[in-house]
Order: sequence, then structure tokens, then C-alpha cells
Amino acid sequence: MKRREIFLRNRKKRMLRKMTSKVILFLIIIVLFVFTSYQQHKKNKLVTSNKNIENVSNSNKQQIDSESNFTVCIDAGHGGYDKGTTSLSGIHEKDVTLEIALKLGKLLEKNNIKVIYTRNSDKVSWPSNEKEDLRERVKISNDAKADVFISIHGNGNTNTSFKGMETWCRFPNTEGEKLAKAIQKELSDYNYTSSRGIKYEAEKSLAVLRLNKSVSTLVELGFLTNSSDEKFITSESGQTKCAEALAKGILNYKASYKS
Ligand SMILES: [Zn+2]
Repeated sequence: MKRREIFLRNRKKRMLRKMTSKVILFLIIIVLFVFTSYQQHKKNKLVTSNKNIENVSNSNKQQIDSESNFTVCIDAGHGGYDKGTTSLSGIHEKDVTLEIALKLGKLLEKNNIKVIYTRNSDKVSWPSNEKEDLRERVKISNDAKADVFISIHGNGNTNTSFKGMETWCRFPNTEGEKLAKAIQKELSDYNYTSSRGIKYEAEKSLAVLRLNKSVSTLVELGFLTNSSDEKFITSESGQTKCAEALAKGILNYKASYKS
């Protein structure tokens, strides 16, 4: 009986030892599994963050690739001390030109064109002096090395029957004339007033064209002193259409210029 007891006790001990070693082995496997999983997780995290960096640098690259070198300087005619022409109903030219300039800028920016403004509010960076005013507008354009400069205006005359839009450039057979024609064509297509055609700077000394190093144009969108022109140019929808026509003209010009 005693031997049997010893035998049983030893058997129990052996079983216990076996079980303990199995538990230890199991625990080791668990620890190894957890450790490997953790390492893999760390590795994945690193790969993901590297991918993110790659994505960021790719998106930066795309941004740089799509970033246009083509710069347009938009000049909202008049501003600040200079009200420009006053419309039949008392609206100042400087306010009309600013609205259209800002609309045009947004449209061009949507088309990946770099836009700079000579002014983007009624606050102007130049003194209340016409000569310095015009020189400063040109300086802003030249400093930015703008490819295209566009000055936006509304016309005025004591004769209220005068109506129509016209586009100015320096000389015939120049890039400036090409730009002016592209713009004049788009404005004509909207058919909101008559077309007075392309005009040349020599006819009316225009410092913003004469002193400008970029391909430059000045557009008179219509007569603020004519009731039907005024109605169109001072309305929200008319201003949007004018901005669209100017943008189309500039984009068409750019397409021919760069190809
Ligand atoms: Zn003007």
C-alpha cells in the first residue's frame, strides 16, 4: 500500500511537472506572439507614416506641377481718392471696376492662373496723385513680372446716347493686340452692348499700357452714362458676365501664347 502511495504521489508530481512545463511553454508562446504582433504593428505604423509623407510630398509635387507660372495682374480702374466716372444713377466707376476685378481674379485662380491685384479694396497703396497712381499700378505689375496686365474701366460721356465696349492696346500686330482682340471677341459674344472695337494707345495716352512690361490691355466695358450699358455693368449678373468674358479672353490668349 505504501509503495502504491509513493507511486501515486510520484505520478502526481510528474503530471504536475508536465502540466507546469506545458503552461510555461504556453506562456512563452503567448509572450512571443504578443511581442511579434507588437513589432509588426510598429513596422506597419512606420510604413504608413512613410506612405503619408510620400502622399504629402506627392501632393506638394502635384501642387507645384499644376501651379501656373502664368501671372495676370488685374487692375481695377480708379479707386480711393479717384472715383472715376459716375453713372446715371450715381454709382462710381471705381466700385464697379473693383467688383468685376475681384470676380475675374477668382475665375482665373480657378484656372490655375496666378493673380495679383493692383488693389483689392477701395484702399489704395499710392498717394492721391494721378501720375504716381498710374506709375504705382504699373510698378506692381512689373515687380510681379506679370505675363498679362488688364486694366478694367467703365466709360463716361456727357452724351448719354454713347454706348458700347472697347478694348485698348499699345500697337497693332503685337501680343497686346492679340490679347485685346481675344477679350473683345468674348465681350462681343455676350451681346450686351455694341462693340466699339480695338483702340490703340497713341489715340489716348494710357500710362498703364505705355509703361507696362507685360502684355497689357485696358478694357472699357461700356458707358456708365448710358442707361442700358449702366444697367448691365452695375448689375450683379452683368458684372459676372463681364468677368466671365474677360477670363475667357485671357485664357484663350494664354492658350495661343503658350502653345
Ligand atoms: Zn476709367
